[in-house]
Amino acid sequence: MTSGSQGKRHIFITGGASGIGRAVAVYFAVRGWFVTVTDVNMAGLEETLGLIEGDAKHSHKLDVRDRDAWDEALQSASEAAGGRIDVMFNNAGIGTGGPLAELEKDEIDACLDINLRGVLYGAQAAYPHLKAAAPGSALVNTASAAGITGGSGMSVYSATKFAVRGIAESLDAEWAGDGIKVSSICPSFIETPLLDGTGHRGENEQVRTRVQEAGLEITPVEEVAKTVWDAVHGDELHYLVGKTAKKLNFAKRWMPGRV
Ligand code: NAD
Repeated sequence: MTSGSQGKRHIFITGGASGIGRAVAVYFAVRGWFVTVTDVNMAGLEETLGLIEGDAKHSHKLDVRDRDAWDEALQSASEAAGGRIDVMFNNAGIGTGGPLAELEKDEIDACLDINLRGVLYGAQAAYPHLKAAAPGSALVNTASAAGITGGSGMSVYSATKFAVRGIAESLDAEWAGDGIKVSSICPSFIETPLLDGTGHRGENEQVRTRVQEAGLEITPVEEVAKTVWDAVHGDELHYLVGKTAKKLNFAKRWMPGRV
């Protein structure tokens, strides 16, 4: 499933079998990038590859919770792309929904392991590759509007996404001398399969109704892909995505001047 393509810039994507990761893969591919998609869902990865024309693409199975597997996946991707990784898009994530008192330990642990540990492992493993590709290399982490403000039923998910923003802020400082840009994107209510499971177990239609009754909107996934492109090429630390986030005006509450 590996094809060579020399000289192109290369983005490595986790959670590339669905939703935001898939949209970002297609967005970068049509703009001339070599794209690596990784996920635990191999059938989904095949579908994503099928959406990308040409041979500047690569896929690899990667469970972001497995620290050892990261090194092999990155090495394989780097070799497929002619020896470089310019951007790590740390995107894989799951929702965990419902009141904290009702959550099983396994649900809490899975969300922490994937959304938080997975992001730390990815950043750590990608660092030597990004350093070698600097200047112009970048780490982009998918946080969430839930990483800016919490809400009922969101305690675990929100905790991981606050943490992802903290990781971005810390590494932005830590890696500045290496010429690596670091940022987070903070989407809200994006039209992907995850939306139906986040914070609202078995209440998908109610979520959609509540969003609409609140005068908020569900944002097309393409808007997130464009924002990741902006994050790779821009200088902000956190990027809000979607009309909902902007309507709630989170920016004024936390990082004035930076978004
Ligand atoms: P999605 O469910 O469509 O895609 C998530 C992908 O992550 C899936 O392909 C899944 O197989 C993969 N994944 C799950 N566990 C994994 C693991 N252990 N290792 C590797 N891959 C794994 O959801 P999405 O909406 O595209 O979510 C992508 C990111 O965006 C997540 O971090 C999510 O928290 C974030 N996000 C989504 C929304 C939204 O409204 N959809 C809003 C804010 C943030």
